[in-house]
This record gives sequence, structure tokens and C-alpha cells, in this order.
Amino acid sequence: MSKLIVVSNRVSLPHPDQPSAGGLAVALHDALNEIGGVWLGWNGEQVDDGQLPAFDHIECDQVDYITCALQRSHYQKYYCGFANNTLWPAMHDRADLIRFKQDEYEAYQQVNYLFAQKLAQIAEPDDVIWIHDYHFFSMARYCRELGMQNKIGFFLHIPFAPADIWQVLPRATALIEDLHDYDVIGLQTENDQKNCMQVSTSLLKAMQINAHLISYKGHLTTIKCYPIGIHPDSIQELSVAAAPQALPMPNKKGTQKTIIGVDRIDYSKGLIQRFDALADFFNQYPRYQTQLTALQIACPCRLDIEAYQALNHALNQQVERINQQFSRGDWQPIDCRQEVIAHESLMRVYRAAQICWVTSLSDGMNLVAKEYIAAQNPLDPGVLILSKYAGAAEQMSAALIVDPLDAVEMREALKTAMEIPKSERLQRYQQLIKGLYQYDINDWRNQFLWDLMHHHQLFEHCIKQPTHRAAHMVF
Ligand code: UDP
Repeated sequence: MSKLIVVSNRVSLPHPDQPSAGGLAVALHDALNEIGGVWLGWNGEQVDDGQLPAFDHIECDQVDYITCALQRSHYQKYYCGFANNTLWPAMHDRADLIRFKQDEYEAYQQVNYLFAQKLAQIAEPDDVIWIHDYHFFSMARYCRELGMQNKIGFFLHIPFAPADIWQVLPRATALIEDLHDYDVIGLQTENDQKNCMQVSTSLLKAMQINAHLISYKGHLTTIKCYPIGIHPDSIQELSVAAAPQALPMPNKKGTQKTIIGVDRIDYSKGLIQRFDALADFFNQYPRYQTQLTALQIACPCRLDIEAYQALNHALNQQVERINQQFSRGDWQPIDCRQEVIAHESLMRVYRAAQICWVTSLSDGMNLVAKEYIAAQNPLDPGVLILSKYAGAAEQMSAALIVDPLDAVEMREALKTAMEIPKSERLQRYQQLIKGLYQYDINDWRNQFLWDLMHHHQLFEHCIKQPTHRAAHMVF
């Protein structure tokens, strides 16, 4: 019987005391735990350059985790370098932050090859392979070179940049060419799908066969959007369960409200714009001073990269400045916690906050927006302020949608969130929660894998799309 093999840069091993603060880790855990399979990738450790990384196997529940360390120079050049200092800013519309070095690109290729070699060793011919994210644009090419004819799919968790960014990205043509060795390319939003199709046809002169299919050098690739979802029921359960640890809960009195933000400290999350808007709001509407506290769970990340160090510094200074300016008595406007909270416990914190804000300047999906809604008390739900630049905004139009670059709009959204009547809160919540049930994390996984497994048949039958959901996939 064929099995599913998932590959991602970081494998999040099943240690309850090691919470991970990334959407990809959370989503893959949820997706794999139910159907089982193999999860291959980096274990987060580094070894000296001369040392050949050995692969470890750990089996837990139905999942076989196969991980290895990265050599120090690969960590620096592939992970900090080409992946996070070249591709990440490019895909998040920050051409100004793109740094490129040829040796980092070469290290990226070497790591793609290293994992492709391991895949070639462990995969049976009928196994289905699902590779995740921007760390592995080139892996399918190496798999094909190593003779693998398996169905190989790729899902990009971050945005797919428009053509003008690809035009200034070094090695763009080679990367896009490598992508076309995948059978299915999954994107988060319709906009990403449109960009991917356009870049393929303009940069490679690949032939578009229909809305989802493209042909390049005789190989067919499906390019389609599969918006990643969550498990609304389990989040609702967790939101009322006892937490195993002391949590940074809202500390409010009487009519005071809490607005929660949960983000990695990343320039794509619009944290600076967010707190500027808060200060502006308190200046414009002084009656709300002492009535609203911003609880920010800010998870430090990628601190080996200069742009992230600079952002950390700027954020700390900004929070300090605003707190100094507005604090009164025992109230201070921002309670910023630089820590990672266990995913399960976080759901309780969401429920305790009357407002949540997501102010991304560019974001693949943003699971926090979906989790916040799923964690609410259905009889007295909170309000979601959501950036129009987060992928989630495509499906969550009943949130208070904002442009985080528009200071006035942000300030007014805060006022609306403070004043919104309960009837409107309920109405918006009902629309949002319905959407979360309509396409959840199982639908995401099943739809992607169905398309991957039927890739060639889809073409033979002139692209008949499934009319039912492949709810029970057997591997
Ligand atoms: N997360 C968590 N603990 C934290 C902070 C975040 O478990 O302290 C989880 C959060 O619940 C969500 C994910 O990390 O599932 C963040 O995903 P999102 O798509 O919002 O952002 P990303 O970090 O992937 O850009």
C-alpha cells in the first residue's frame, strides 16, 4: 500500500514541551496525525561542516519522523541566506530587502539535493510525495534526476510574488523551471495562483492549457489554490479546557477590553504600523485610554539575520516609548511578551480577548485569524480586525478588513471594534465560523492529495474536477 511522505524544512517533533510558533508546523501536524505517513526534514540542529549529517528515525502515533542536522555553512547559506534573505523578502513584496549571494544559492541547491537523495532512498515507486514551502523550490528537479517517477506535489505556504518581483530576483528562471518538475503546485490564494500562472507563462514561455494546467517541456503541472484551514471543533474544545501552564491572560477591570496580537517578530507582520495606530487611537480618542490594553505575543525568530535584529530593536523601542507616553496608574497600553506559548494553551488566551488584530503587510494565509474566530464563545464572540494583505482576507470578508498602511483606517477600525454592538458581533462571527467549517484543514489536505493522485487522469478526462470531497483517503 502506498504511503504519504511529507517534506518540510523544519520537522516539528512531537515534544509537548517544545512549542512551535509557525503555521506550517501546526498545519502539518494536524494533517499528518490523522492519516499517518513519513515526515522528512531538518531537526533544527547544526553540525560542523566536515561532518556528514546522519538521519534519525522516530516513530510516534502513525507518523515516522526522519530528520537530520544541517552543516553550519548550510544553515548560514541555505537557511539564513538564500531561503530567508533572498526568497522570503522577494515573496513578501520587499524587493528592498533582497540580498543575493551565489554561494548561498549553491548551498540552497545542495540542501535540496541532500533531501532529494534521502527521498530517493526511502520512497517506494507508488508513494505520494508532498513537499512544503519556499525552502524546496528545486527539490522535484533532483528527484527526477535521481530517477523518481512518483507523484510529487508542492505547497507554498507564503505568497507567490507577482512577475515584477521575479524579474528582479536572481536565478528566477532556474527556480521557476525547477518548480515545473512538480505535478501539482498548491498556493494559498487565488491571487497567488494567478501570479504563479503568469510568471510561468511569461518567464518560461510555458504553455497554459486551461485555468489550472500548464505544460512545460512535455511535463504537465496543475497550479491551483488550496487555502489552508484549521480544525474549528478542536480549537473550540481547547479554548475552554484547563491550561497546563500559567498563561499571559488579559488583566482587565470593569469595562476594560483586551486586543490580542500573536505574531512572529517578522517585518511582514506589520507590527510597527500596528502600534503606531494604537498610539494614534489613544491620541485621537483619549477617552479610550485605560479602556484598552494590547496583549502582544511576539515570538522572536531568525535572529541571525540582520533585518530581524533591526526589527526587534525597533519594536522594543516603540513599545517602550508608547508605554511611557500613555501609562497611567497600574494601566499600561501594551503588554508585550516575547515568548512562545504552547499551541493548545493559546486557544484559551484568544477566547479571553475581546478583539484580535492581524496587520500583516503580506502574509500567505495567517492562521491566527482563523484560530481566533474558532476559539470564541459563540454566544458572546470577539471582533477580528484583519489586514487585506493576509491570505485569510480572501475568505474572511466578514472581519473588519483594514489596510495596515492606512493609519486613519486602522485607528477607526479600533474605534469600531470598541463600540461594535453585540448583534453585529454575532452576525460577523456566524458568517466567519461558517466559512471555517466549509473548508477546514482536512479539506485542504484531501483536496490537494486528491488532485495530486489524479493528476494525469484529470488531464486525460479533460480536467473533470471532483464534485465530492475525498473525505476518506487511504494510504
Ligand atoms: N503559535 C503558537 N504559539 C505561539 C505563537 C504562535 O502555537 O506562541 C502558532 C499559532 O497558533 C499559529 C501559528 O503559530 O497556528 C502561526 O501561524 P500564522 O499562519 O499566523 O503565521 P506564520 O508564523 O506561519 O507566518
